Amino acid sequence: MNEFSAGGVIIKKRPEGILVLLIKDGYGRWTWPKGNIEKGETPQEAAIREIREEVGLKNIRPLDKLDVIKYVYRLKGKLIFKTVYLFLFEAQGEESLKVLKEEIEDAQWLTPDEALRRIEYKGAKEVLKKAIGRFREGLLNGQTDRSN
Ligand code: ATP
Repeated sequence: MNEFSAGGVIIKKRPEGILVLLIKDGYGRWTWPKGNIEKGETPQEAAIREIREEVGLKNIRPLDKLDVIKYVYRLKGKLIFKTVYLFLFEAQGEESLKVLKEEIEDAQWLTPDEALRRIEYKGAKEVLKKAIGRFREGLLNGQTDRSN
C-alpha cells in the first residue's frame, strides 16, 4: 500500500538566533510535524493543516519546498510505502506551542544544534541541515520577514 503525507520544518527567528520546531512522535522519536494528505488538498495545504492540528501554529509562512522522503514500514503485517512531502516554514509572531494530538508526546522549540542532536530517523538529520541552511541563506538574502 502507498501512503502520502506532508509536513514541514518550521523555524522562527529570535534575537539570540533561530529556533527549530520538533515534535516527539507516537513512537518516541523527535521529528517534524506531518500527516496524511486528504483528498483535494495539495501537499502544502496538508502540511499547513497538519501543523495547525498537531501543534496549534496558525501563523506560518511557506518559504520553500524542502524535500520528498520515502520509507517503508510494516503495519499489521502489510508493507506500507510512504512518501512525505516536506516544506520549509517560518513561524511568525508569538504563538504558543500546544500538543493537540494524543499520538504526540511533546513539541518544543530547539536550537539548531539541539534539534540536530535529537532527530534520529534515517536521513532526517540531512533534511534538517538543509532546512537550517536554506533558512539562513534566506536571512542573508533578506527573504524572510524582518517585521517581527
Ligand atoms: P502520519 O499520519 O503522521 O503520517 P503515522 O503514524 O501514520 O503518522 P509514520 O509517522 O510514518 O505514520 O509512522 C509509521 C512508522 O514509520 C513508524 O514505525 C515510525 O516510527 C516510522 N517513521 C516515521 N517517520 C519516519 C522517517 N522519517 N523515516 C523512517 N521511518 C519513519
